[in-house]
Amino acid sequence: MNNRIIGLLGGMSWESTATYYRLINEGIRDALGKLHSAHIVLYSVDFAPIERLQHAGDWDGTAAILGEAARSIEQAGARCLLICTNTMHRVAPQIEAAITIPLLHIADATAVELRRRGVSRVGLLGTRFTMEQDFYRGRLEQRFNLEVLTPPLPEREILHRVIYDELCHGILRQDSREAFLRIIDGLKRTGAEAVILGCTEIGLLVKPADTGVMLLDTTELHARAAVDFALDRGH
Ligand code: GLU
Repeated sequence: MNNRIIGLLGGMSWESTATYYRLINEGIRDALGKLHSAHIVLYSVDFAPIERLQHAGDWDGTAAILGEAARSIEQAGARCLLICTNTMHRVAPQIEAAITIPLLHIADATAVELRRRGVSRVGLLGTRFTMEQDFYRGRLEQRFNLEVLTPPLPEREILHRVIYDELCHGILRQDSREAFLRIIDGLKRTGAEAVILGCTEIGLLVKPADTGVMLLDTTELHARAAVDFALDRGH
């Protein structure tokens, strides 16, 4: 039996970090049984200053805060690191440079599952940073040879607003759910074989049962990669 310490860099937002905590513990319990649970070191940041720096375009500022937090996680004994947000993988290279333990990249966990399911053309939902900048979709395209589709600008604006003004505050509205489902359908119509829920809070609002479109929830897939790492399965 193996149960290595998982490092979580969370709080972005804490609404979805809570889901990581539950899923990772459930994964270890399901694998090891009885009262087994995960060894976790969690560093949960104050999201407000991070969000301000994001929207000011000061990514180096976010990297300084998160790099320092990542170092603390390693010093506390973690054997791997997860950044519990898609968007902040914008500065994954800087965070990786601050530590010596492996970073389990959220896009890689997602891409591996897409390949396993035989998907090659995929829609991507997330913040505007994730949908529009290259750090995420570029990785899917270049490392995993996936074709990535994103919604048109007015829809990207809706997704971004709902994520920051509602989901990160724990607000789940039916009209927003319906808007997300319309956007998912639109991606399907333009040729997406599946859609990535590329923001860790979207799975709180939209569930696979809400649509016939294949959804990949990055929070679930990332948490599963952590469990595999802890149990030394496939890493
Ligand atoms: N949790 C979100 C994500 O996965 C958005 C919040 C953030 O900007 O980190 O992208």
